[in-house]
Amino acid sequence: MFGLFACATPALAHQALLSLQHRAQEGIALATAHTKLEFKRSCGLLSCAPKDFFTPAPHALGQVLGAHHDFYANNHLAIAFCGNLHHSTTPAKFIAKALDRAQATSLEAKLKEITPTLKGAYAFLLLTPNRLIAVRDPFGYRPLFVGALRSGFALASETYTLQALGVTDIQEIPPATLYTKTGAMLLARPTPRPCVFEAIYFSHPSSVVFGQSVYAMRTKLGQALAQEHPLQADFVVPIPNSGTLAALAYAKELGLDFAPLVSLNPYVGRSFIESTQESRQAKARQKFSLVQEDLKGKDIILIDDSLVRGTTSKVVVQMLKEAGAGRVYLLLSAAPILSPCLWGIDIPAKNELLSAQGGEAAYIGADSVGFLSLNALKAAINAPFCQDCLIPKNKDSHV
Ligand code: 5GP
Ligand code: MG
Repeated sequence: MFGLFACATPALAHQALLSLQHRAQEGIALATAHTKLEFKRSCGLLSCAPKDFFTPAPHALGQVLGAHHDFYANNHLAIAFCGNLHHSTTPAKFIAKALDRAQATSLEAKLKEITPTLKGAYAFLLLTPNRLIAVRDPFGYRPLFVGALRSGFALASETYTLQALGVTDIQEIPPATLYTKTGAMLLARPTPRPCVFEAIYFSHPSSVVFGQSVYAMRTKLGQALAQEHPLQADFVVPIPNSGTLAALAYAKELGLDFAPLVSLNPYVGRSFIESTQESRQAKARQKFSLVQEDLKGKDIILIDDSLVRGTTSKVVVQMLKEAGAGRVYLLLSAAPILSPCLWGIDIPAKNELLSAQGGEAAYIGADSVGFLSLNALKAAINAPFCQDCLIPKNKDSHV
């Protein structure tokens, strides 16, 4: 999500949405505010020209729609929401209705009144004809950044978006903070538990999270993987695009041959967000192909960022084996995912998580499967983070 206050233009709003597209792909929502509020929604990826989607106005609020990316607007207020409220499947609307019922008089005071009732993970932006306000939960699960743009300010889920807009003085909005043009207000006692998946997979490589560039962090994860699993093979092959940086660093660390032999067709779209295992598999098969078919007898170290259901790696390992590859060793530049996420990442129930079931290599058809240890992940991140998905839980719920 992004917000622009006293600096919006059609071109900037368009650029902001494009720079967030990797975070959700099911739709686009945009509100603009001048003396009144206008809003639009469309399905799928952003495909129109800036002027077709955006009515010129000084303020704008936009969201890419999908799992844990919500939006609500009426004639006087729009809310873009990232995260997961445990008591609502329409969190942006839930917040708007809670504000309607709040007793306090000012918008800030209403927000202060209602935030203790929000259970779960949330970062949201709220636009009215003359205000843009940001709120981040006490744990800081979902990322949120702010910076200066022209005579106004801009807010976004990733620094990449702000960088792309030419924003200066980029700062993280701290957990438990309500941010407005005039300053920041602490809403509760902050207990930071930001989501580690932003570093592992979700954020754009140009972004900064945990005070480090994502590019540098994924490089560190690849180096750590080389230290923990120093294997020998003919080629180190990334599963694109999510495994590329770690694979490159892994190969460099061990002096092995980095070979991007798997190609990804970006027009197929995300296989992960399909609703059935069959359609996820079919889409993964459509999405990946080998750029070199004759791999007879070649041993391969295949690297991806993470293993969830094992769909992606099973499909790619099968392709490599069909092309005659010898041994295929799968490595993941993250610790095993053992529990579902309740804090805004699409990590499914435990019975769908391959590492929670065990037998990863047999299911995938790889000769071995290795993960980065949680300790190595902690060393690379070097800041507190939420580990709920990386720790085994007896039940699906850990609220
Ligand atoms: P799997 O195929 O094992 O179910 O999922 C792992 C693959 O999906 C990895 O390549 C990873 O980059 C990607 N992935 C992991 N988490 C997410 C997510 O929340 N959303 C999407 N779209 N992809 C994900
Ligand atoms: Mg991937």
